[in-house]
Amino acid sequence: MYRIGLGYDIHKLTEGRELVIGGVKIPYDKGLLGHSDADVLIHAIIDAMLGALALSDIGTHFPDTDEKYKNADSTVLLNNVYNLIKDKKYFIENIDSNIIAQKPKMMPYIPVMKKVLCEVLDIEQERLSIKAKTNEKMDAVGQELAIEAHAVVLLKKV
Ligand SMILES: [Zn+2]
Repeated sequence: MYRIGLGYDIHKLTEGRELVIGGVKIPYDKGLLGHSDADVLIHAIIDAMLGALALSDIGTHFPDTDEKYKNADSTVLLNNVYNLIKDKKYFIENIDSNIIAQKPKMMPYIPVMKKVLCEVLDIEQERLSIKAKTNEKMDAVGQELAIEAHAVVLLKKV
């Protein structure tokens, strides 16, 4: 049996924060604002994984009112969700995702993101796709005010 899930996330870019996307620190003069490390790509993947099994959303599992998750490393949250999937006897068939950022360029960091995320999720790299786009200078993302991510996850029952 297969289950599909969809995830979306957006975080505001702000000064005085580290930019962490896909578990990778990206050198930039701004970072994403959030209670955790605000890793927009991981959050979209987490929501897609939870959505596939109708297990609610990231905010329910890791509330931003909980001090425990302040500046939390999102790879740890991703690992928690992966364990949840495993407990329910599902494994990841594949993940496809988009990062939408006007700046900085995501492309050079995608191979490292894939390496980091595949290790956390215990999957081969051919099962994870990360694509990068700009928003052609339109809207909040295009005007460098925010970074957005989308993900779809297909799970298969063992
Ligand atoms: Zn988020």
